[in-house]
Amino acid sequence: MKRDYDVVVVGAGPAGSMTAKWAAKNGAKVLMIEKRQEIGSPVRCGEGISRSWHDSVGLKLDKKSVAWEVKGAKIVSPNGSSFLLSEKMAGDEVGIVIDRVFFDKLLARDAIKAGSDLQLKTSATKLLKEGDKVVGVRVKSMEGTRDITCGCVVAADGFESQVGRWAGIDTSLAPRDITSCFQYRLTNIDQDYDYCEFVLGSKAPGGYIWIFPKNKDTANVGMGMQLSKLSGPADVKKHLDKFIQGDPRLRKGRPLELVSGAVSICAPIEKTVGDGILLVGDAARQIDPITGGGISNSCKAGKVAGEVLAKAAKANDFSEKSLTRYENGWRDLLENNLYRNWLAKEKLVTLSDETFDKIIATLNEVGVDKMSTFAILKAIEAKYPELVKEFQDLL
Ligand SMILES: Cc1cc2nc3c(=O)[nH]c(=O)nc-3n(C[C@H](O)[C@H](O)[C@H](O)COP(=O)(O)OP(=O)(O)OC[C@H]3O[C@@H](n4cnc5c(N)ncnc54)[C@H](O)[C@@H]3O)c2cc1C
Repeated sequence: MKRDYDVVVVGAGPAGSMTAKWAAKNGAKVLMIEKRQEIGSPVRCGEGISRSWHDSVGLKLDKKSVAWEVKGAKIVSPNGSSFLLSEKMAGDEVGIVIDRVFFDKLLARDAIKAGSDLQLKTSATKLLKEGDKVVGVRVKSMEGTRDITCGCVVAADGFESQVGRWAGIDTSLAPRDITSCFQYRLTNIDQDYDYCEFVLGSKAPGGYIWIFPKNKDTANVGMGMQLSKLSGPADVKKHLDKFIQGDPRLRKGRPLELVSGAVSICAPIEKTVGDGILLVGDAARQIDPITGGGISNSCKAGKVAGEVLAKAAKANDFSEKSLTRYENGWRDLLENNLYRNWLAKEKLVTLSDETFDKIIATLNEVGVDKMSTFAILKAIEAKYPELVKEFQDLL
């Protein structure tokens, strides 16, 4: 049967644009649809990324996408002492503070250059199915409602994803697997603009506070709290306001922008493909459960998805079996780390401020050569095994 497109990607965030780019580049006929009227705006992100993974997904940042560059990460314990990590050691969320309004557009532009179509202000409202097989998507745009047929619909529709659920894939989250976030773009502040700062402990129950510099006197200052630890909808803002008022560097700051949103901090979900359907990025719960960072994983999984979809288009086979190459591919790249970090997160949220203070003091004493959960725990274990006895199954 003739179809309108090989692939329709729902959502033009990092995951959607990367998927569309690699599918189109390898010969698939691709359409991206985005419900917003402008790619990348409004921003719902702390905007911290590292450089380490760009080459692996073919990403070349332009000047506008980079707001600020830092030397590394500063991890601050509840008693105010800190541990510095160089950019190289700091993991996937530290090195560059991007401007997502431009970054997301850059990725979408790459997808268009590779041959993908893009339609803005166009929302997916329903999947078209033949039995359990997805064969297209109903969309609503300024022109009205219409059905688009395709070999595969890609759910790249972010944290609140509905497309996966419409296809019958379980992406539901327990309250303890969700971090609720609130962030100010604060200007008129004094800050150590050479570092992205992470503040741990009970100031941000079940999460952390971040200060990511956008320039010398402006930063994204945000907080994430585990949903199960919230006593009301305004709780995260209240905690963040209290922190800002207690910090002389930030107290005189004024907001240019407010952001609220959520991230998943769950174990990898069981299934991300079905007949004619594939989930990627936040929709596939590929966010790092410790940092809440998801841009790098969305891009890495997006590249795998695009390549698999192009092969599926050539073979005219978008069955679940054919798309399992994506399931296996992204899991090979990301699953071990996601699972290990989820286990570590489950324990981290139970630690007292005193334990965080001791861990930071120990890290300053023993040092670590890599910012991975395993490397940190190993370094601490060598000197103070009792401090990490809770984490024995990760060692
Ligand atoms: C407060 C906050 C701070 C964060 N800070 C960081 C950070 O510093 N570093 C980091 O790496 N990650 C961070 N993240 C996570 C990061 O933003 C996400 O992991 C990343 O955006 C995932 O990309 P995505 O393409 O999967 O989803 P998104 O970027 O959410 O894109 C999904 C797109 O789908 C569109 N869409 C949704 N439904 C439909 C529909 N029905 N039809 C058409 N289009 C639709 C949306 O409009 C959106 O554009 C943060 C998240 C939050 C909430």
